[in-house]
Amino acid sequence: MAVVLGCIADDFTGATDLANTLVRNGLRTVQLIDVPAPDAPIPDVDAIVVALKSRTIPAQDAVSQSLAALNWLQAAGCKQIFFKYCSTFDSTDDGNIGPVTDALMAALDADFTIACPAFPETGRTIFKGHLFVGDQLLSDTHMAQHPLTPMTDSNLVSVLQRQTKQSIGLVQYRDVARGTEAIRARFDALRASGERIAIVDAVSDDQLTSIGEACRDLKLITGGSGVALGLPANYRAAGWVAANAGADSVPSVSGKAAILSGSCSAATLGQVARFAQDHPTFRVDPAALADGKPVVADAIAWAGERLDEGPALIYASAPPEEVKAAQDRLGRAKAGDLIEEAMAEIAKALVETGVRRLVVAGGETSGAVVGALGVTGLHIGAQIDPGVPGCVTTGDVALALALKSGNFGAEDFFEKALAQMP
Ligand code: ADP
Repeated sequence: MAVVLGCIADDFTGATDLANTLVRNGLRTVQLIDVPAPDAPIPDVDAIVVALKSRTIPAQDAVSQSLAALNWLQAAGCKQIFFKYCSTFDSTDDGNIGPVTDALMAALDADFTIACPAFPETGRTIFKGHLFVGDQLLSDTHMAQHPLTPMTDSNLVSVLQRQTKQSIGLVQYRDVARGTEAIRARFDALRASGERIAIVDAVSDDQLTSIGEACRDLKLITGGSGVALGLPANYRAAGWVAANAGADSVPSVSGKAAILSGSCSAATLGQVARFAQDHPTFRVDPAALADGKPVVADAIAWAGERLDEGPALIYASAPPEEVKAAQDRLGRAKAGDLIEEAMAEIAKALVETGVRRLVVAGGETSGAVVGALGVTGLHIGAQIDPGVPGCVTTGDVALALALKSGNFGAEDFFEKALAQMP
């Protein structure tokens, strides 16, 4: 069967989060990194998620990258398009959610779409157009001080209206609570009165499922991964995808295994400590790297002696006081870059010596590793811990990857990830 859903995500971990939701709801899904080459093969799946890094770049660049992704997805035969952004609606008055939505609507000749970032599982709910994070309005949270996209207004109708000339409407809770038909009737009423994009209230997964069902005939849907919950049922009802119990099955990969951790988040520190109790570990020291010591070569040689016996962990992860010491000496960006480059180089060398199963901790660290390995696509497999699926790369040399950002995963995440990689 042909690809049904084409998704454009404005960042990497957001793309994985959406892909994970689709797989868990029965769609075979591949995540592609950046816009594929025009002649890139079309994967045999139900949904494709193109991961861009367009959240905070200038709006015109975000528009052109998103349109390039759209072109590719349309050529691949996708019947519906999804624009995925953060569940905290990360954007400024200059964009990029409004301008990208406008451009996608124009290119698709779509006269109506929704904007619904709600993700109740992680506490993001929308009521009367206002976005809450847990029990607080968005603008009362740390997001008000975000360095790139400070969110100082929780009223999404106003926030989005400042980003677009198209008229923004609202589908209120009272209609959403009445279910799919009431939501669809409200879409029709808004469309008839000239509103082109509707913020949609949602406080539960049930409501998101109804909203997804109500979006059956829209060419474009925009929002967080939650609103994708209801889409697979539409495609099954239309006969576009098979009832798919095995959507999370990925090619099996065997080979040596390693863990690379460049995340200093609290959850990762616990995972590193737990794994270190009964596995070999190697610490990458930023100060030694800065002094030009052969840390990378030492790590590779160390791993070479151990990985035949079983998995081992190479980590830069450190508690806040050590991170601060490294940053005071090197500067925040330099310390981060040095370690990311080291981890990327180590990953490349490990794969060259036969490692085929890699767990990577850290969002930026994962980006650096995936880039160095030249990964262009990921088959999304079963979830290891909430929000983190196991993946297998597309392409000639299949690698099993688990890419975990920041505070995700339980304390035994590394063991669990390795156990799940066949
Ligand atoms: P997370 O997902 O937990 O935020 P990231 O990989 O995105 O993890 O970011 C962690 C950043 O911290 C990376 O840039 C990494 O290189 C850097 N880093 C890792 N270890 C150290 C350390 N010991 N000192 C300073 N910076 C570090």
